[in-house]
Amino acid sequence: MSTLFISDLHLDSSRPQVTQAFYRFLDERTDNTEALYILGDFFEAWIGDDDDAELCLEVKARLKSLSQQTQVYIMHGNRDFLYGPKFCQDTGATLLNDPCLIDLYGIPTLLMHGDSLCTDDQEYMAFRQQARSPQWQQQLLSQPLIARRALAAQLRQQSKSMSALKAEDIMDVNASEVASQLNTHNCHRLIHGHTHRPARHKLAELNAERIVLGDWHDKAWCIEATEQDLKLQHWQIAP
Ligand code: MN
Repeated sequence: MSTLFISDLHLDSSRPQVTQAFYRFLDERTDNTEALYILGDFFEAWIGDDDDAELCLEVKARLKSLSQQTQVYIMHGNRDFLYGPKFCQDTGATLLNDPCLIDLYGIPTLLMHGDSLCTDDQEYMAFRQQARSPQWQQQLLSQPLIARRALAAQLRQQSKSMSALKAEDIMDVNASEVASQLNTHNCHRLIHGHTHRPARHKLAELNAERIVLGDWHDKAWCIEATEQDLKLQHWQIAP
């Protein structure tokens, strides 16, 4: 049995090849999988669990069917921070806190989306604080779907000046914030996405490893963990 981790698919109706790559991944890779962890920015935007756009309904149905045989976990990203109870009900997925400490075949492993590690991006950190406040979210979710769609489009325009929401300008993690999270959770392994800089970093001074998932753009990335080992894998997405 294995456990899979993915993040930053940024599913969007404008990039059907990524959605298809995700469905193929589910078809080909999840037979022997006991858990799938989706570590944020699964969708390019999530405007509420009541969104009835075709892509949302279709992906939710796929997750629902996967969740009949495999545990599905999802974490909020900086773009899809509005999953709530209805999403979980519709998909069978369990929403994880960020950060979340799990026992991965005997090794304590800290899971994060990764945006909260980029503390040098002060403009984004201020936005993050606002966007995670229950009042702000409630006010947003109380607007009709059509208004939220317009707002998401507007935010996409604005994000030209908001680097954390723009893939090519995302800052990297702050090393002391990484150390602080590992220390706080008393663990030696961190898995996150967000920065779109897939790699395995040995942190000698912490006797730890930081494993970064890649985004799904030209390539797809996943981590496969088993009792024996852990691999960071990638493959080409068909154009
Ligand atoms: Mn992100």
